[in-house]
Amino acid sequence: MKKTNPKVAASSHQRNSSNKYVYAFGKQTEGNSSMRELLGGKGANLAEMASIGLPVPPGFTISTEVCNYFYSQNEKYPKTLERDVEEAVRQIEEQLGKKFGATENPLLVSVRSGARDSMPGMMDTILNLGLNDDTVEGLAAVSGNSRFAWDCYRRFIQMYGDVVLGIQPENEEEEDPFHVVLEKMKARLGVESDSALTTENLQDLVRRYKTLINKKTGRSFPQDVMEQLWGAIGAVFKSWKNPRATIYRQQYDIPAEWGTAVNVQAMVFGNLGESSATGVAFTRDPANGEKAFYGEYLVNAQGEDVVAGVRTPHPISHMEQELPENFRDLEKVRTKLERHFKDMQDFEFTIEDGRLFILQTRNGKRTGLAAVRIAVEMQRERLMSQKTALLKIPAESIDSLLVPVFDAKALKAASLIAHGLPAGPGAATGRIAFTATAAEQEIKRGNKVVLCRTETSPDDLKGMLHSQGILTSRGGVSSHAALVARQLGKVCVCGAGDIKINYERKTLTAGKIVLNEGDYISIDGTTGAIYKGMIESADSEVKRVLDGGMKPEKSYTYEIFQTVMAWSDKYRRLKIRTNADTPSMARQAVAFGAEGIGLCRTEHMFFEGNRIDLMRQMILAVDEVERRAALKKLLPFQKKDFVGLFKAMEGRPVTIRLLDPPLHEFLPHDDVVRRQLAEKLGVPLEFVIERIKALHEENPMLGCRGCRLGILHPEITEMQTRAIFEAAAQVMKGKKKIKVIPEIMIPLVGFKAELVDQLNVVHRVAREVMDKRGVKITYQVGTMIEVPRAAITADEIAEVADFFSFGTNDLTQTTLGLSRDDMGLFYDEYQKKEIYNQNPFARIDQSGVGKLMRFAASNGREVKATLKLGICGEHAGDPSSIDFCHSLGLDYVSCSPPRVPIARLAAAQAALRQD
Ligand code: PEP
Ligand code: MG
Repeated sequence: MKKTNPKVAASSHQRNSSNKYVYAFGKQTEGNSSMRELLGGKGANLAEMASIGLPVPPGFTISTEVCNYFYSQNEKYPKTLERDVEEAVRQIEEQLGKKFGATENPLLVSVRSGARDSMPGMMDTILNLGLNDDTVEGLAAVSGNSRFAWDCYRRFIQMYGDVVLGIQPENEEEEDPFHVVLEKMKARLGVESDSALTTENLQDLVRRYKTLINKKTGRSFPQDVMEQLWGAIGAVFKSWKNPRATIYRQQYDIPAEWGTAVNVQAMVFGNLGESSATGVAFTRDPANGEKAFYGEYLVNAQGEDVVAGVRTPHPISHMEQELPENFRDLEKVRTKLERHFKDMQDFEFTIEDGRLFILQTRNGKRTGLAAVRIAVEMQRERLMSQKTALLKIPAESIDSLLVPVFDAKALKAASLIAHGLPAGPGAATGRIAFTATAAEQEIKRGNKVVLCRTETSPDDLKGMLHSQGILTSRGGVSSHAALVARQLGKVCVCGAGDIKINYERKTLTAGKIVLNEGDYISIDGTTGAIYKGMIESADSEVKRVLDGGMKPEKSYTYEIFQTVMAWSDKYRRLKIRTNADTPSMARQAVAFGAEGIGLCRTEHMFFEGNRIDLMRQMILAVDEVERRAALKKLLPFQKKDFVGLFKAMEGRPVTIRLLDPPLHEFLPHDDVVRRQLAEKLGVPLEFVIERIKALHEENPMLGCRGCRLGILHPEITEMQTRAIFEAAAQVMKGKKKIKVIPEIMIPLVGFKAELVDQLNVVHRVAREVMDKRGVKITYQVGTMIEVPRAAITADEIAEVADFFSFGTNDLTQTTLGLSRDDMGLFYDEYQKKEIYNQNPFARIDQSGVGKLMRFAASNGREVKATLKLGICGEHAGDPSSIDFCHSLGLDYVSCSPPRVPIARLAAAQAALRQD
């Protein structure tokens, strides 16, 4: 009896006015590559490939609208769906002359997820669907290969049992229950590999699998093929919200509302014998971006064998000898795909008895390095314009050109223990963790980790996110570990067959060397080398060129870096400044392209040497006389620092923020240090203790900070202003006569009157120094906007300010009422519940903090059209926040020196997207 789908909604609720939920591809194709939102990336590209004449097995896509319907309607489907799916199945049957569920020449299908952006391995897939106790015989007859048919059947039951019926290991240490049954059977038969199992063995295995299912679920394995299909469709929709997909969506900003599509496609077989094969190929090298055909394949195998990393596949170049005709066809497909999609493609193929089929294509995931190189080279090949090339590079990937490599000297002394496949470039050192949980624990202890697994599965995602690098002993360069590592920008070495990992004993063995969990290991994802112990790393080529240690013409990486930076500078409107407190930080930032300093935190200048003692003396002073005495000693240090900074910046603007020390950061907590301080200051210990007690604040972040300190003790503002103007005068009159335009910034202002108070001090001292030195120094005085009241009263404050700089660290802290230092206790839960989609201290909370910023920017500019606007909170180095700042019309963003190149690119992308 034919079962119907029980989950059809009784209501006729429809979102889609045309009622169209199912789109066919094959002889007749209803979609195309522009329909990603509706069909998902995979569905849209399958349709596109079918329509440009590539050999795609026929099938259909159930749209993402159905996914949203499914979740909003209590896991039910639109009323018309069942009929449409049945009709679409019928169309496949017609095209292939096969029948779904028939004993004779049965049609088998795959059921796969497909979101708008690909999420490799995060959601579920089911292959060989349509097999049952009868159709398996039909498949045996039509293929003339009974062993093959039973092999497909046992694979299908295992997959269906896992994905649809939920029979899975219960913890990280437990093996897959189906795998246990299989291994027991092989042990009993005394065979090592699956291929040694006979038809009878496989039939026995199928029986055992069915028993397992019965035992675990209390139900028998479904024999009705339509019931199988609906089970699989439901499982794929459900997998949109499984934990690993949820983590992935959060990591990559994929909204839950996008949903996934489901693709149902006729199966073709790469496991019909020696003239069949299956593989994955990239049109260029996804690890380093080189224009080389890249990928791997296995003869007589199914796709999952390549991706799961169970057998180590051959490199694609090997196919030229083994299957020469197919290789030539594949080369043609490679060129056609790249020309058509105008991006590097990652495609899956199957050769069924000598005939090539393309199963899917998508823009290939790539390392940061490859992203930059591919974009630059494709522009040079005229496959894309400069603007498109810029938009194709995730801004963060610039970082991979700047990441450290192992220090050459340290490497010579290191002991190499094995080699694997290089799958994610860069150098990583850390303690060995064998499970995601162990990795997390080690990170919590403040250590770096290399996650070592025989192979990874999507459940390891969290561990991978936490690790410096990933090492696997099995699987090729397109195994799960390699794909995900590349995407996360993690260092990865995979398929290191000489390494044995024993989860039970928690050991990693390479020949005679045995390493335990917690021991240090180092891996080089560019060469594949694996070393025992910790190895120092060294600067990247780009950094060496920028520091003058390498000639620019010697480094191709530097050349492509420069190309992207030059293009970025051409299109961006935002200026890029940096947050730097020392001349060396400033010089590094300038080498990276910084155009000024947007924030010099003067309190950071006092952490060094014995200055901290002078600073403490100043803080502990009981009256103005004592305070002035301490300040007098601090003045020469400050002046020298500013001279260094002005010189390093060579005429570029420098924003100096007056003292903003949360006092608790500067006062000693420890008895020994308190005693030492008392000795140094020549005062009794009790005095120090008493003063610290008197200055104690329950909540120093909201206490005597920022301008409050300068208002309370104007002599501090005086000293700092004097140091700034003395330094400016010295540099301007010096041998090199460097132009200096200081911008003095008053912190934590919430009232116009606070700013006026401090302005008066600054203007008075500035005049004094200029008169004394006989120079005219052009300068500006502005304020940070970092408490909500400042944003709300921006119109008033703008009357007296030359500029605003958004201090989004404090603005986030005070707007959300959320301590910058104390969100650890609840943050994980907030993320899990998706209350915070992103860490609000890393990415601007646009609908909250962002609104205040927009309000302040427009009200400020209304009062004073020339008001300069910038941002100097940590968010200024985050690409999506930079995009937002561009939309506010800010003049600049100011980020930490290493993020300057990322900010340059992100600013250009914002301009290209928005203008
Ligand atoms: C800010 O609050 O965003 C800021 C830049 O200042 P700080 O981080 O020094 O408080
Ligand atoms: Mg601040």
